Amino acid sequence: MYVPRDGELDEVAALIRNAQRVLIITGAGISADSGLPTYRGIGGLYHERLTKEGLTIEEALSGDMMARHPEVAWRYIAEIEANCRGAQPNAAHNVIADLEREKPGVWVLTQNVDSLHRMAGSQKVIEIHGKVHHLRCTECHHQRSVQDFAGLSLPPACPVCGGVLRPDVVLFGESLPQKGLDRLAHVLEQGVDLVMSIGTTSAFPYIAGPVWWAQQAGVPTVEINPGETEVSRIVDHRLRMGAAKAMTQIWARLHPQ
Ligand SMILES: [Zn+2]
Repeated sequence: MYVPRDGELDEVAALIRNAQRVLIITGAGISADSGLPTYRGIGGLYHERLTKEGLTIEEALSGDMMARHPEVAWRYIAEIEANCRGAQPNAAHNVIADLEREKPGVWVLTQNVDSLHRMAGSQKVIEIHGKVHHLRCTECHHQRSVQDFAGLSLPPACPVCGGVLRPDVVLFGESLPQKGLDRLAHVLEQGVDLVMSIGTTSAFPYIAGPVWWAQQAGVPTVEINPGETEVSRIVDHRLRMGAAKAMTQIWARLHPQ
C-alpha cells in the first residue's frame, strides 16, 4: 500500500498555508469518494463498447446527435445522470470549499458536471463541461434547473416554445463555453501561487495546460491521484492517494487541534 513519503503531506500543507491564490483542478476522481463512477469525461461509461444503436459513445453523446436525434443523446445522458443522482459532496469537496472561505483567492476548475463543488459551498468554480441538472431550450432562451431527471419525459419539451430541452453540458464535438475559458485565462493572468490537480487524468489539453504552465513559471504544483496521469511526471509533489483521504489529512495539518 502506498504511504506518502515522510513529511510530504506537511510540505503540501505548507504550500497551501503560504499561498494566497490557488488553482485547484478537479475531475471524476474527486467525485469517486461520493460514489460516482470515474469515467473519462462524460462518455466513459461506454468506453470501448458500442451502444445498442451501434454507435460509439462519442457519436451518441455528440452535439450533432442532440440536434438530429435528441431521444438517442438523451437516453445516454439520462443514464449518466442516474449514476450521479443523490450524490453528496465528500470531504475533499468540503475541504476545498473551506479553503475558499479562508482564502478568497482559491479557484476551482472542474470537468465534473455533478455540481458537487457548489453543493459543498465553493463559489469560485469554473464548470468547464457544464452542469447536467441545468437544462436549456435548443430553440429559445428558456432555461431551468432540475433536482434530477426522475419523472422527465425524454426528450423534455420547452414549456415556452415546445422545443427540445437539453442539459447545459459540453457534448462531443461542441466547443467549451467561452465564458469559462475567459475566466480561467483571467485567473492565470492574475497569477497563482500554487496549482493542484486532483482526481483527473489530465487527458484534455486545457486541463493539463495550467499544470504545464505552472511548472514552466516556477509555480509549485501538486497532484493528488492514486494512478499515473499525464502530469504525474512534472508535478513537484505527487500524492498517490484518494482525494477525500488526502484533503482530510492536509486539512488536519493546516488546523491542528
Ligand atoms: Zn423554448
